[in-house]
Amino acid sequence: MPFAHGPQTLAIPGPSIIPDRVLRAMHRPSPNIYNGPLVDLTHSLIPDLKAVARTSHNATIYIGNGHAAWEASLANTHARGDLVLVPRTGSFADGWAEVARGMGIRTEMLDFGNRDAMDPATIGERLRADKDHEIKSVLCVHVDTSSSLRADLKAIRSEMDAAGHPALLQADCMASLACDVMEMDEWGVDVAFAGCQKGLMTPAGMAFVFYNDRAARARERSDLATFYWDWIPRTNPEVYFRYFQGTGPTHHLYGLREALDMIVHEEGVDAVWARHATLAHTLHAAFAKWENHGTGGVGLELNVRDPASRSHAVTAVRLPGNATRLRHWCEEQMGLTLGIGIGMAAPDDPAWHGFFRIGHMGHVSGHSMLGTLATIDAGLKATGVPHGSGALEAASAILAGTAG
Ligand SMILES: *Cc1c(COP(=O)(O)O)cnc(C)c1O
Repeated sequence: MPFAHGPQTLAIPGPSIIPDRVLRAMHRPSPNIYNGPLVDLTHSLIPDLKAVARTSHNATIYIGNGHAAWEASLANTHARGDLVLVPRTGSFADGWAEVARGMGIRTEMLDFGNRDAMDPATIGERLRADKDHEIKSVLCVHVDTSSSLRADLKAIRSEMDAAGHPALLQADCMASLACDVMEMDEWGVDVAFAGCQKGLMTPAGMAFVFYNDRAARARERSDLATFYWDWIPRTNPEVYFRYFQGTGPTHHLYGLREALDMIVHEEGVDAVWARHATLAHTLHAAFAKWENHGTGGVGLELNVRDPASRSHAVTAVRLPGNATRLRHWCEEQMGLTLGIGIGMAAPDDPAWHGFFRIGHMGHVSGHSMLGTLATIDAGLKATGVPHGSGALEAASAILAGTAG
């Protein structure tokens, strides 16, 4: 008997759940785009976006998704033929590098596999060997959404400084912004970007690129920033429509205003980070019990081995042979949609069915995390996957504050 009627929960790592408040804020007729409330509202978004990225520098808005942010940031910081270093801990580094190559930028991959975080010292070593400073940027995915590995951007910046290398540090914060701690200025990140459909809880369609003065200087030697992608006119524009180089994403702006009210002005960015951290630890505690099923061999396990490198926004899980069955059961019988595995095996390889991901970014409460975990617990039973016991006990103890 299916129990999928009632509320449906999307637990994929983007797009994330859109709060009803955000949807309601968008439900209105088209506004005047020349003056009046929409113009004031748009100006008000900029300081709040900077507050989320922890930067006092520049913020720009593009109508587009994460791929647009990749293209926008590269266009403004590089000239055709430049070399960039791409430390890799999953598929999103590959996607970013592909966009760079498509723009005539040369890429050098530094592959760390997809189970362990990128090693800052190895990055530093490569930069030290680059005596002529041919490498113009280090492109780091902060949280690779495929592997759920988080990079230590602060340590990477220290290595870059210790190497005395002038390359820009660019961070893809698509999956991490407003979820994992991200201190753009304090960590010395030169360019950071994200979309609106993950931690920012707004329907897909806007991307934000943040850049500091060092990145602004790189703009001067870039020859890739065509009219639409150029970030200069979009930064502190004198005429409103220059924010978007045309009609703004009117309804998205209302939605984002509501989401930023929730994140910046009501809960607070630090509290949002703390909530994501505790919910992620709750999930990790449940998996520690499930993983411990005493059958030996390879079974259910978290993809990221070192807890310190696990994202607080997304979790990749290895479940050889059974992940697709579990996902289908959770969706069809229970109304919970889990994410597919990405980049762990080719889609036509039977091993592809051995991975899934859980999105826990944005509008996620203790109740929703417990619901997701309890549903997975039922799914493991229903699909006959060997698993240890006590997972839900461990999870609820963390949220109750009674865990050891
Ligand atoms: C989602 C995501 C992207 C791509 O975003 P799209 O909106 O799908 O283009 C890029 N990088 C990371 C780390 C992501 O999580």
